[in-house]
Amino acid sequence: MKKVPKVVIIGLDSATWTVIRPWMAEGSMPNLARLMKSGVSGGLESVLPPITPPAWTSFMTGKNPGKHGIFHFVETEHGGYAMNYANATSRRSPTVWKLLNQAGYSVGTMNIPFTYPPEPLDGFQISGMDTPSESSPFIHPPELRNELVRHLGEIQLDLRFLGAMSTDERRDQVLAEMEQMDQQWTKAALYLLENHPQDVMMFVFMSIDTVQHYFWQHMDKDHFIHDPKLVPKFGDAIRKVYERLDAAAGQIIDRLPSDTAVFVVSDHGGGPVVDRTIYLNRYLAQLGLLHYKEKATTSGLSTLGKKVLRGGYSLLRSTLTSRQKSRLALLFPKIVQKTEMAYSAFTSIDWSRTKAYCSEVLASPPSIWINLKGVKPQGIVDPADYEALVNHIIAKLAELKDPRNGKPVINRVYRRDEIFHGPFAKEGADLVLDWWSENSLFSTQPSFPEDTDKPALIIREHKPSETSEWGGTHRLHGILVARAPALRTGAEIENSHLIDIAPTVLHLLGVSVPQDMDGSVLTSAFRPEFLAENSVKSGAASGTSEGDRSSGYTDEESAKVEERLQALGYLE
Ligand SMILES: [Zn+2]
Repeated sequence: MKKVPKVVIIGLDSATWTVIRPWMAEGSMPNLARLMKSGVSGGLESVLPPITPPAWTSFMTGKNPGKHGIFHFVETEHGGYAMNYANATSRRSPTVWKLLNQAGYSVGTMNIPFTYPPEPLDGFQISGMDTPSESSPFIHPPELRNELVRHLGEIQLDLRFLGAMSTDERRDQVLAEMEQMDQQWTKAALYLLENHPQDVMMFVFMSIDTVQHYFWQHMDKDHFIHDPKLVPKFGDAIRKVYERLDAAAGQIIDRLPSDTAVFVVSDHGGGPVVDRTIYLNRYLAQLGLLHYKEKATTSGLSTLGKKVLRGGYSLLRSTLTSRQKSRLALLFPKIVQKTEMAYSAFTSIDWSRTKAYCSEVLASPPSIWINLKGVKPQGIVDPADYEALVNHIIAKLAELKDPRNGKPVINRVYRRDEIFHGPFAKEGADLVLDWWSENSLFSTQPSFPEDTDKPALIIREHKPSETSEWGGTHRLHGILVARAPALRTGAEIENSHLIDIAPTVLHLLGVSVPQDMDGSVLTSAFRPEFLAENSVKSGAASGTSEGDRSSGYTDEESAKVEERLQALGYLE
């Protein structure tokens, strides 16, 4: 007999209530609205920092990044300064999918970020955004791929032209491709539901995240790069994506029996980028905590390579053909390994005199590392001085004030041990700066040695942007909507965390919750009668493993990932 899914999870990367609620009030997104009425809903607090790789990995493991080992798109090489691209190989805690398999439930997942290479699940797994390219083995079992291609055509993983949206034509092109990808994944989800149903299934859609990053400024008239001329064409770009995915969710839900549990979740929220830009390494240099080599050099790079680095990759984004881009991207891993994959490092930090530094290559998540003796190869900070140095940096960061209101730009700096717990916590950055809270919003830009005397904080001019840049970024709170016979109806629930979903799904299926999961069962979502008859069972720890991190990507694969992340705007 054909399986009937017991739990279906729909992931809408970056979906946020701040935009959904007003639109829903106007009658938009009827499927999500119906789901809310028949179940529970509320905010869903992400992990810190609220970025896609640790967020979805915490969702899948029920654990904080210190226990699963994924903190970022990149990870520091053991005992070095170099950064490599992370993928699912760096995850060192079992997923809820494996735990469900062990409990006898089959699982099928589609397009969840940080699931490459795919897990050999009982069921299937189609990897998400960390898949290096369409030619990578990103589907388990491999024969499912041929079947999908036969029925749905070749699978497209990427949008082209994201970084080159300086004309309306290109913007239209990106939006059209985004729609094609949503259609592709919707068709795939419906096909899998029909032909490969599993006990637990999950389908993720990424386009809300992408459209929010690149189109937020067009719907927000107060945005510092808002262009009123573009409103008629692109003012509703984000809303259209939400409405399209609401329809997709409706199609999925319509195919399910009413007693199938349905969850709609996002890994974090979204909001506008603001006009405050901080140059962190420049600031650390001004404080005397970071030093550049006397003769900062980018030797070893070709002229073109230097130009690309200096141009902030914008040259690469806007003027090269895609073939040229891929050739350059193939060059990058070598450059990256040699030069630590940060602008600051490209232009040569003098490690022998540097106490603290930031990896500035990534667009959004600013964090600071301490050049600690015994940890970093050229560490100069004595462990005995660590606390004092960290306190000093936190105090100095608080001195960066918005000249317009005299208030600190960075409202909070987290020490590593405040947010990461577990065997891999030490792999996280020493300091994580809050860039996601409404009273602590800013972005960062790479620093260059010759600009050290320029201000570390600038307020961006309010005028339309000439280049393709982010108008939107992440916020801490995503969304949760869930319906199931065991859950309450029409109820709003509070204080839900992304890491609570895994234990909640386990409990819903009568599986005990590993005692080392950091999340807890969302008891406030359940009907009291269900809880009275089914008390939460705590089970043996799911544990952690010491996986081999270095085997993540080959050079060629990491080039492909780099190209994709650049295209998505995650790399400067
Ligand atoms: Zn995300």
